[in-house]
Amino acid sequence: MFCLAADSDYTVRVVAPRETLTPKRQARKRSSRGQTFLSASSSRSSSDWIERKVRGMQILLVPALAKLPWLVHGFSTRPGGVSLLNGEKVLNLGFTEWDSKESVLENRRRFQSAFGATDLKLISLKQIHSDVIHLFDAAPAEPCRGDASVTNRSGLLLAVQTADCVPILLVDPKKRAVAAVHAGWRGTLQRIVVKAIGQMQMQFKSRPADLLAGIGPSIGGCCYEVGTEVATQFQSQFAEAPEWFDEFRTGDEPNPIQWLNMMPPGHQPPPKNVLLDLRKANRGQLLGAGLRAPNIFVSDLCTACRRDLLFSYRKEGAQSGRLMSVIGMLT
Ligand SMILES: [Zn+2]
Repeated sequence: MFCLAADSDYTVRVVAPRETLTPKRQARKRSSRGQTFLSASSSRSSSDWIERKVRGMQILLVPALAKLPWLVHGFSTRPGGVSLLNGEKVLNLGFTEWDSKESVLENRRRFQSAFGATDLKLISLKQIHSDVIHLFDAAPAEPCRGDASVTNRSGLLLAVQTADCVPILLVDPKKRAVAAVHAGWRGTLQRIVVKAIGQMQMQFKSRPADLLAGIGPSIGGCCYEVGTEVATQFQSQFAEAPEWFDEFRTGDEPNPIQWLNMMPPGHQPPPKNVLLDLRKANRGQLLGAGLRAPNIFVSDLCTACRRDLLFSYRKEGAQSGRLMSVIGMLT
């Protein structure tokens, strides 16, 4: 197995056994640029989600996805596992400096068994905050560099790792295909989730209106402070970007700061930082790509606020563990 670049008008990598890489598959190309975006309405809260407790672990599931008997999926949380982090047993699912490889592999084994995916081959990526998407027909020997994966093969468990960034799981119940997407601010700016849907349309003839999406725990708009230069980049790309940002308040400001129109009143400088709601941005992109609002399930758990339950790289730095979000098909 190997990571192979597909001939495409945006960055897509295809991984497949040589015999399955048919010219027909290689020839399929279509752009999904030029999307329009609908405004995001209220999102479902994590109270609608299923919390499954197994061997000290707490796994979050989307009810609409859990109903599909041929599908397995799950969003991990912090408790349980065999990794020791400052005296606390945690379910760290990523290879970090502070943890041993053995512990991570044991955690992954326990996590997979907790939702009946023991027999599936876990496919995690070397995540690089890109818009590189992989199509998997089989598990590669080594992790591929990229930030999203798609498949319509059973027996594979697509995974993304996060510790603040947004994990998004997609399923097409009609065509039986799945995707896992890692979207930090860079991936969100590059519309990685829209491009992953584009790949599902291209490869599996998925219709966006049929897709179900789970947006897992991530850093919330309450805590995700970014520089105004990030806001400016979003504003140049997305008409609805102002809906995704909030001003960062220290509590001392007498007036709202009008950073978005770049005309601060008087001689006030624009604020150095603003708050970005990444999951709202990704939900907006899902709606813009054609998903139906009732088919998008958003966890409202913030990694930075809920360090008792999750991992936050922003708050914990090198001492942070990694959450894992996975999806795959049994048959
Ligand atoms: Zn928060």
